[in-house]
Amino acid sequence: MSLPLDELYRDLILDHYKAPRNRGELEPRSARVEGNNPLCGDEIQVDVLAEHGKLEAIAFKGRGCSISQASASMMTEAVKNLGVDEIQQLIATFKAMMHGETVDTEELGDLEALEGVQKFPVRIKCALLAWTTLEQALRETAAR
Ligand code: ZN
Repeated sequence: MSLPLDELYRDLILDHYKAPRNRGELEPRSARVEGNNPLCGDEIQVDVLAEHGKLEAIAFKGRGCSISQASASMMTEAVKNLGVDEIQQLIATFKAMMHGETVDTEELGDLEALEGVQKFPVRIKCALLAWTTLEQALRETAAR
């Protein structure tokens, strides 16, 4: 018997929370941005190394609720090896999903697991924190 989708998704989120991927700091890096969500006390630091329009490396550190940390971990996995343009598109798609819009879930892959969060408005900021922080890091990289 297969698990209901909700449980699969919950397991995936917990797995990223307990064993975050790409955790740490980058040296060298093209930008470091810290973001926080005062509503929940979540903190995220995102380091990126981007060159020639491509993300070469990404790492994050943070603390906070499981949604914020799992979202950050899943994000780093999703954007690795993508072009900056593709990442900006993915950020837009992820934000749209969090705001309840209908999106192409194929583009999102595992990130679809976070879709259920939009039913809990206070949690949406938790899920978005890493993404807005990455968006800022890419902006700072481009401005250099
Ligand atoms: Zn949170």
